[in-house]
Amino acid sequence: MIVPSLSQQDVELLRKDTPGVWQLIHFNNAGTGLALSPVVNAVKQHLDLEAQLGGYEAAAAAQAGMDTFYTSLAALIGSKPHEIAYIENATRAWDMAFYGIDFKTGDRIVTGRSEYVSNYVAFLQMKRRKGVEIDIVEDDETGQIDLKALRAAIGPRTRLVALTHIPTFSGLINPAEEVGEIARSANVLYLLDACQSAGHVPLNVKEIGCHMLSGTGRKYLRGPRGTGFLYVSDSVLDQLEPPFIDLQSANWIDETSYELVPHARRFETWERYVAGQIGLGVAASYAIGFGIERLSNRICALGAQLRSELSGLADVTLHDKGARKGGIVTFTKEGETPAEIKERLSNAHINVSVSRASSARIDLPERGLEAVVRASLHAFNTEDEIDRFVKALGRFDEA
Ligand SMILES: *Cc1c(COP(=O)(O)O)cnc(C)c1O
Repeated sequence: MIVPSLSQQDVELLRKDTPGVWQLIHFNNAGTGLALSPVVNAVKQHLDLEAQLGGYEAAAAAQAGMDTFYTSLAALIGSKPHEIAYIENATRAWDMAFYGIDFKTGDRIVTGRSEYVSNYVAFLQMKRRKGVEIDIVEDDETGQIDLKALRAAIGPRTRLVALTHIPTFSGLINPAEEVGEIARSANVLYLLDACQSAGHVPLNVKEIGCHMLSGTGRKYLRGPRGTGFLYVSDSVLDQLEPPFIDLQSANWIDETSYELVPHARRFETWERYVAGQIGLGVAASYAIGFGIERLSNRICALGAQLRSELSGLADVTLHDKGARKGGIVTFTKEGETPAEIKERLSNAHINVSVSRASSARIDLPERGLEAVVRASLHAFNTEDEIDRFVKALGRFDEA
């Protein structure tokens, strides 16, 4: 079945809801998606309600919006609402799952070259603390995780397969479902970092087969900053112990006992950014309203267009890996460092970002790269913006 991309009318609607597009070209959606009016309005509205009613009273009045967070995030990833936890960012969400695993000395963690920096340093900490071993699976010839090597890397001591679905520093979309099949047949826990993929590509935890999945609010979902979520399958709840508990995640029974609340909410804390929770629910509903597949098709098509236009510039080298690529485009340019490019574009009201080796120690240095420019596109971006971007990038040479 061919799923159509967005119509011109849809794109106009997306842009109407994205006031920032009138001031600048925002190609930094992997950093933060450019703010969406319905989300901003929902957050502001709740902050106003807090000012008028008091914070606890406002939360009680906004119960429906808080509940919508669980149902819309569940709809986004194909889980049950009670398998979703609201957490302040994707890093802590991932941490709540990872540090919830009772690792033993000699346990092995299997991961790939695209693993996110904060995840990898957590592996290293667990290695120092518990004596776990880290197995890095090489890329295949396309640059995605090598599935054959992955199968071979999993052994009797493998406790966890941890994969970053879309890395923060490359166009690559890793084959999360195929990895899930391998993890399932080996009966190993599978933790997917979907931070860059939520809102960017369709996600279905049943099809992917991951037991735990973490995501952030502010990137491709275009939710508020300081928001994130964690999915934990009911099927692995008894294998995870929340590393921290509080009055939200546990009930205090008596002087000597407590019990964890059922389901994923045992990974939450009570105190939270309520306006953010409501805003993230609105953001997920908004994306679902357009259709994630249609959004995704446009994001990937725009990424392909930018790559194609950049490949026409003699002094630009593209660095995206993978058989399947999304809306993140990475490149370098002769005679100008990534930091200089970022600054020059910023002066022309174009937002991009720089990915550095310090955040990709097992990837970029291996490819001889110290830093790359990252231009990350979203569905509200346009073909015309891409043309203007490529012209602006080339202008340095003419000067
Ligand atoms: C941004 C990012 C994170 C961290 O998300 P936060 O919400 O900033 O904690 C994790 N993994 C990947 C792949 C990311 O790109």
